[in-house]
Amino acid sequence: MRKLGIGLIGTGFMGKSHAMAWRAAASFSGEIQPVLVSVADIDGSAAERTAQQFGFQRWTRQWQDLMDDPEIDVISITSPNRFHAEQSLAAIAAGKHVHCEKPLAPDSATAEIMAGAATAAGVVTQVGFNYVKNPLLKLARQMIASGELGQITGFRGIHAEDFMSDPATPWSWRLDPSGGAGAVADLGSHILGMARFLLGPVEALFADLDTVIKARPEQAGSSVMKAVEVDDIARLTVKFACGCHGHIEANWVASGHKMQLGFEVTGTSGALIFNQERFNELQYFRNEGSAGKNGFTTIVAGPEHAPYGLFCPAPGHQIGFNDLKTIEMLEFIQAIDKGESQGPDFEEAFEIQKLVDAAVRSSRERTWVNI
Ligand code: NAD
Repeated sequence: MRKLGIGLIGTGFMGKSHAMAWRAAASFSGEIQPVLVSVADIDGSAAERTAQQFGFQRWTRQWQDLMDDPEIDVISITSPNRFHAEQSLAAIAAGKHVHCEKPLAPDSATAEIMAGAATAAGVVTQVGFNYVKNPLLKLARQMIASGELGQITGFRGIHAEDFMSDPATPWSWRLDPSGGAGAVADLGSHILGMARFLLGPVEALFADLDTVIKARPEQAGSSVMKAVEVDDIARLTVKFACGCHGHIEANWVASGHKMQLGFEVTGTSGALIFNQERFNELQYFRNEGSAGKNGFTTIVAGPEHAPYGLFCPAPGHQIGFNDLKTIEMLEFIQAIDKGESQGPDFEEAFEIQKLVDAAVRSSRERTWVNI
């Protein structure tokens, strides 16, 4: 058995998800066993609590401590966006493999430096685009690639949530421009990555970015307002290199929508519809049968869709959000073992970041941008 020492940075929403996923991955990863070595958070009490809760051997307030720790092989980064570059580059310089949450960097120039540094150091990277680890997304990609939908005629993608829809929701790190753009980076990176996963590269786009809530309370309940400098909604028209065109929306003020990350792909022979709120289902339309009777059917996830069977032997019983993170960590462990990326890695995140940057530029200059 070989040990893979894990050092985690950040203990919030994603920090807990990473900790759970690394623990769960240990049950499935065979010869290579992830071991929770140390957790860092600027909030020391949160680091201590997380260490006790998940069984990390030690904790620290200083993320730099993880870089000097000889028992740590992998740095898992779940801090706010503006820290990703500094922490990733330090990890790479220390010879550690890096899993970093999305968006990888505030801009594509920084993402390119990060991807280049990882390649030069020969470390393996992965970025937290966990939704494409869904076994049904892999099925959708296969169906598109094998021609089951015929010639692809269009793509409509969306990532809409409502966690910023209340104007009383205070200013937070997600609105910090030093971490990059707003909804187009935070949510847009997921749906742009999913679009690339399904259909390949985007070659040009036109975007309209909108900040609908211009100022927010500096802190919860405060009457002091702070200007919002990043977008709340991004609406994109995209041209894929494969020839089809599409629309993509990223929106964090979409009242009523909790996790509408989804797409419709249409082709000359059929179509697929997916929504993350019901991510154990894929809607499939086949352009055949008698008119009046041929509608969308529901493909329900089951053990036929690997690696669903790792989690549950029975179809329709469903896997959950944290299971996608576990699949992501398992693929990362395999990538480290083989010394080659299983994606999405820093190079792919750089490609996605180029699209985010292009959307910001297109909206500012009111023009199409070639990628
Ligand atoms: P969060 O606010 O819940 O947690 C951030 C944590 O980082 C907090 O514990 C905070 O104390 C800590 N922190 C802040 N600055 C730090 C520093 N300099 N060093 C160490 N720790 C520091 O945020 P979150 O929702 O967990 O988001 C974190 C990252 O994960 C973001 O990049 C976000 O975009 C990404 N994210 C990804 C997904 C996904 O589905 N893949 C979902 C949500 C968030």
